[in-house]
Amino acid sequence: MKQEVICIVCPRGCLLTVDSERDWAVSGNHCARGIAYGRAELQHPVRSLTTTVAISGAAIARAPVRSRGELPKETLPEVMAALRRCRLEAPVRRGDTVLADAAGSGVDIIVTRDLDRVTETEGEPA
Ligand code: SF4
Repeated sequence: MKQEVICIVCPRGCLLTVDSERDWAVSGNHCARGIAYGRAELQHPVRSLTTTVAISGAAIARAPVRSRGELPKETLPEVMAALRRCRLEAPVRRGDTVLADAAGSGVDIIVTRDLDRVTETEGEPA
């Protein structure tokens, strides 16, 4: 079966055709990276995840987080549900793990920004 997918590896955005009945043959690519992308996207799609998590005691209400690597696309709803349940407490440091082995993927979700603790009355770092 032939399926079409747009390559997102570079801004050129080639329209790839991937044929699962011909050993995942890829056409429409303008470089070799498109072959790897087209095959991976249809056989085992992955995505990086960037979002925010609730935090208390910091100057902002939500801490920016990201996946330490790429997650299987099918795990994203489960990972997002787990992150919605997370509540961080300031201070946190860039690289701190928010969710280890997210959805059994082997990939951790980490904080991407230092957030100090602030006093409630002054909004100043404690
Ligand atoms: S196939 Fe190559 S040139 Fe085309 S979008 Fe993908 S990376 Fe860019």
